[in-house]
Amino acid sequence: MSQRAVVVGGGAIGIASAFYLSQSGWQVTVIDSGEIGRGCSYGNACLIVPSHSHPLPAPGVMGEGLRFMLKKDSPFYIKPRFAPDLMVWAWNFWRHCNAEAYERGSRAMAELSRASLDLFEELSRSHDFFYQRKGLLHVYLTDKGAEAAVPERDQLAAHGLPARVLSQKETLELEPALSDRIRGGLFIEGDAHGFSYGYVRALADALETRGATLLTERPVKGVLVERGAVKGVLADSPREEIAADLVVLAAGSWTPSLAKSLDLRIPLQPAKGYSSTIDAYPGCPAVPILIPETRVIVTPLAERLRFGGTLELAGLDLSLDEARYQAVVRAGREVLRESFEMKNEEAWCGLRPFLPDGLPIIDKAPGIEGLIVATGHAMLGFTQSPITGKLVAELADGKAPSVPVDAYRFDRF
Ligand SMILES: Cc1cc2nc3c(=O)[nH]c(=O)nc-3n(C[C@H](O)[C@H](O)[C@H](O)COP(=O)(O)OP(=O)(O)OC[C@H]3O[C@@H](n4cnc5c(N)ncnc54)[C@H](O)[C@@H]3O)c2cc1C
Repeated sequence: MSQRAVVVGGGAIGIASAFYLSQSGWQVTVIDSGEIGRGCSYGNACLIVPSHSHPLPAPGVMGEGLRFMLKKDSPFYIKPRFAPDLMVWAWNFWRHCNAEAYERGSRAMAELSRASLDLFEELSRSHDFFYQRKGLLHVYLTDKGAEAAVPERDQLAAHGLPARVLSQKETLELEPALSDRIRGGLFIEGDAHGFSYGYVRALADALETRGATLLTERPVKGVLVERGAVKGVLADSPREEIAADLVVLAAGSWTPSLAKSLDLRIPLQPAKGYSSTIDAYPGCPAVPILIPETRVIVTPLAERLRFGGTLELAGLDLSLDEARYQAVVRAGREVLRESFEMKNEEAWCGLRPFLPDGLPIIDKAPGIEGLIVATGHAMLGFTQSPITGKLVAELADGKAPSVPVDAYRFDRF
């Protein structure tokens, strides 16, 4: 009889883990407290970007963050509150804002994202979800901003990612939906984008076809452990013990509370982001656009168009701040030529699971046999979900990992 695995969390990370576990012969149950794919994996900016695979803590980021904090509609905000865990997190974040940690983290993350992009190519051929490999276009609003294009191109080249610096004319030729107020661009050819929720749904459907069980509206209250090994989870609504030989904790921003009951500390903060999705209009962009000066992304998703951005540290709070939401919409609209109607607008916010060094945890939990943790993917959870799922299955099977996993160890904090 095949072994039983329970995956807690049906977001991009949990579903991809379940997918590769089931492919490897595990009898899989996915349990979500809500609906599959409706957490942070629902309304994200949908980019699959080896080119942006670097940790957020970087030299100079602290100063920049503090400047942003003074503005009500800035792309970065920390809600003032007394929270000792946030202070420890911020101190740890600051410790990683140096060139050495940034370089090391960037190398590891780029490798993870590249391997993931290869898997997306495979998955998109065999599963039905919107996916395109059309590159990513940075656009700059000022001449000063555009000066960043050359060093950015050189840095990408050093990581084996070709990019072209574009004049204003070349940028507008490449993406005619742009307004002529943009000053220039940088085009990264190898990146991709896809509909994140559609991808999660497609893999969930494939799992069901293979005989996996998907339980929704069933919050997991704890992991059951006996003599140092997992024996299942305790699910609620209705209360039930679900037996398992392997438990994967992939509950995104909610993972620390599940781990806490096992005396495992995961120093993660939820980082809220916003998106706005509308019907595509005639002449809307065909290529995903990133605006470095406002940190906003504009992503074409077939018949829809999405604006996404902002990073707000406000705890496990899913309330939508209208000023920040509108700032994302405004920043997206201001680079586009047409003045279009916001038809069928869907306002959304989600919580990115964010560890203080900006890298995820993909590892067996120490001291408990049969427990794997996969979380903390921050800005890159959609991009890195297939490879994370594959690594989870390899860890479960005791196989050599497809990419080095040392950077994602549980015990590094
Ligand atoms: C505005 C924005 C833009 C982004 N853009 C991009 C992008 O372009 N590219 C990219 O790669 N990434 C992007 N991200 C990041 C990406 O969305 C996240 O990293 C990713 O969705 C995290 O996936 P996850 O599966 O870990 O978490 P989630 O998708 O949040 O899934 C966790 C699941 O666990 C469930 N859960 C919680 N507690 C329990 C419990 N007790 N029992 C059972 N289930 C539970 C939740 O209901 C949820 O479904 C963006 C994020 C935001 C907010």
